[in-house]
Parts: sequence; structure tokens; C-alpha cells
Amino acid sequence: MNAHDSERLAGILASVGFAPAEEMGQADLILFNTCCVRDNAEKKLFGNVGKLKQKKRQNKKLLVGVCGCMMQQADVAEKLADTFPFVNIIFGTHNMAALPEMLYAAIFLGERTLAVSDQEDLPDETPALRAKPPLSAVNIMQGCDNFCSYCIVPYVRGRERSRSSEEILREVRGLAKAGYQEVMLLGQNVNSYGKGLAENIDFAGLLERVAEETGMKRIRFMTSHPKDASQRMLDVMARHENICRQLHLPVQSGSSRILRLMNRRYTREDYLELIRRVRETLPGMTLSTDIIVGFPGETEEDYQDTLSLVREVRFDAAYTFVYSIRRGTRAAAMEGQIDEKEKQRRIVGLVDLQGQITYESNLAHVGRRELVLVEDESRRDAGHVCGRTDGGKMVNFPGEPSLIGQFMPVEITQAKKTTLYGRRIDGDTQA
Ligand code: SAH
Ligand code: SF4
Repeated sequence: MNAHDSERLAGILASVGFAPAEEMGQADLILFNTCCVRDNAEKKLFGNVGKLKQKKRQNKKLLVGVCGCMMQQADVAEKLADTFPFVNIIFGTHNMAALPEMLYAAIFLGERTLAVSDQEDLPDETPALRAKPPLSAVNIMQGCDNFCSYCIVPYVRGRERSRSSEEILREVRGLAKAGYQEVMLLGQNVNSYGKGLAENIDFAGLLERVAEETGMKRIRFMTSHPKDASQRMLDVMARHENICRQLHLPVQSGSSRILRLMNRRYTREDYLELIRRVRETLPGMTLSTDIIVGFPGETEEDYQDTLSLVREVRFDAAYTFVYSIRRGTRAAAMEGQIDEKEKQRRIVGLVDLQGQITYESNLAHVGRRELVLVEDESRRDAGHVCGRTDGGKMVNFPGEPSLIGQFMPVEITQAKKTTLYGRRIDGDTQA
């Protein structure tokens, strides 16, 4: 979501005459887009902005800005402004549309702006300056109403708002026409799409229309909240070849007691039952999840419940996090905060277990034929390109950059921990 916000910021900058610099040394403006979901980003940001002090001294015309949801917290924005007087522009996620005015004030009036408001100012149809095809992302909604007790998102991103289906369909159609082959539909909780709209539509309905009416070859979406993932949605996925067989279903914990404290509104059993239905409706689905360890009050037994759920489900991938105290959230005030060393022990155990399962899931692909949408040149292997399978697994194989944007049949020959390797099967190149 933040990456797509950066594309929208780039779109605003392009509309007032800025163009992307080849490298940071050549830039007239350096704008940091931040995230506050976990605290390590905050430390990194202060370090990275601090490093620009010298550059500013050498080049008086250089403009520096910091934005994103970390700045949506007024106290953090003020701290940044006090620590680094050379930063010209600071603004939150709700003040993106005012960027041209802030730049004008900085360039022509020498004025500094700090803008953090509660009301969002950016119309959803703001044109984004996107990465080149084939991959694209489209917001279907903003904000979140769930208030999971550990999470800061509802405070910085505000209440849930869905975009109209016509607007979304128009945007996806435009992308398909412009040569994008894949779209990622984005929302903090896509399954509650449609609430509050005048039209009668839910996420399953939207997904079906995107699949049928836009010409987009591949459709993915993120994130599904397990409490709202409906059978209707799974049935729509099963009916449409162009909806990818990939589902990200953050479980957060395998302990029903911790799930209740997290305010997730499902139990371990509800989650396992959902996974059973997913696999029954869509055999071979790639499943990924998010997990937090070290939530306040998490006992060894709760932690073991998480490990046993991971063993039982056998996710293809998991994004694992150490619980991070976010000021103002309910969990920050809870008793039984876990000490850092213990959190580290738990995360290492979880990462090891999931690493082994991911590797085994990758190994199971060796010998299979997959249709890969080529995204880019491989950064690791010269002369290779990389892309994803329908299920979202990354595959590297020998090939020319001219293949980028094409669907290539590939035989998987080798599996590593996070990536598959393959070779091109010549002949059919159709999706
Ligand atoms: N809306 C999505 C998640 C958005 S945040 C959902 O509900 O699934 C992405 C992930 O960051 C979360 O799934 C969670 O695992 C993690 N996360 C959020 N707040 C956190 C915190 N305070 N500490 C550690 N991890 C956190
Ligand atoms: Fe945060 Fe929960 Fe909303 Fe996800 S659903 S953004 S974890 S409050």
C-alpha cells in the first residue's frame, strides 16, 4: 500500500513538472515515504534523514521532504521537524494533495511546511506515476475500522472508505489497455469492501466484475481478513481463471486466547475451518499469512499453539513479526509485555520452522510446468529474468530482458529457500 502511495506521490510530482532522477545524487527533491506499523522503520528513518544534512550543506537548492503514515502522528512529525531543521516539507498521508503548494512555498518563498490533518485531501482518482508494466496496484478502499488491539493503522489511516466499483473498473480497464497484465487490488481489509457505498456490492461482487469486465489477465488482492473471507469470494475465485490461486490470510496467532486479546474476532478453530474450506474449494491454492510473536501476555503455551498451527496449515510463506508497542493502541497499555530477548527467541523458532516448510513447499514444485509472467531481470543471476507463477511463487530462469511482460511456460528445475529456478519450455507463449 505504501509502495502504491509512492506511485501516487510521483504522479502528483509529475503533474507539476518533476521527473524521476536516475539516482539520489542527481535529485532536486528527496521525499521519504514512511510507514509506522512497526517501530524499526522509525529508527531507520531518523538515520537516513540525518545523513542528508551534509548534502544540504553542499547543495542549498536541494529539497528534502518526509511524508507517509509515520508523519500522520503529529508528535513524530514535530520531533522530526525539531531534530532536522533542514527538512523543508513534512506531511501526513491525509495531506498528499497539497504537495504542489508545499513545494511552491519551499522553492519560491523559502517557507517550511508541516501539515498533518485528520481529514484526507486526496481524491482517489489522482493519476499515479506507475512502475512499467506488467505489474500494477489499485486501491479499492482506504483506512480500517477493525482496531486490532496491536495495530496503529486505524489511527493513522482513518475510517474505512470504499471507492465506487465504476471508478475501480475504469482504472483497471485503463491499466489493461496500457499493457499491464496483472493488478493487485489493495485494501487493509478487502473483504469488507462496499460497506457505506450507495451501490449494492460486496468484495466477491467487485472481484467478479474485475475478472469479467476489464480484460486484466491476472488479478490478485490483499489483504483478506479471516473473519470476513466469504465462501462467495472463494466461489468467484474458483469460477475465474484470471483470478490467481493465491490467498494472503493473516492469522497473527495460533492461540484463541491471544486472538481474543488481539481483537481479531475469530478463533484458532474458525481459522482452521476457513483453511479447510479454501483448500476444498480451490485445491493447490498458495497460502500465505502474517504472524506476530511476543504479544503482551503470550505464554509459552500460546506460542506453541502458534507453532502447531503453522505445522498444521503448512503455509507456503509467512511474514513474521516481533510484537512492537505502538503508542495509543490498546495493547500498548496491556500487562505482561514480553521482554525483547524472549521475543527474539520466539521469532527465531518460528522463522526456522516456517523456513523449512517454505523450502519443502518449493521443493514440491520441482518438475512442474508453470506459466510465469516475466517481471524483471534477476538481480542475483546475470542473464536470468524473474517472474511469478499464478500462485505467486518467484521463479528465476535464463532469459533476455525482452521477455519482460510476457507469459512464459517454464519447467521448474530447482528449489531454493525463497525462490524457484527453471528453464523455458519453447513453443506456446500464450496466457
Ligand atoms: N490489514 C492487514 C494488515 C496490515 S499491517 C490485516 O489485518 O491483515 C501488516 C502486518 O503487520 C499485520 O498483519 C501484522 O502481522 C503486522 N503488525 C501490525 N501491527 C503490528 C505491531 N504493533 N507489531 C508487530 N507486528 C504488527
Ligand atoms: Fe490493523 Fe487489524 Fe486493520 Fe489489519 S485489520 S490494518 S491489523 S487494525
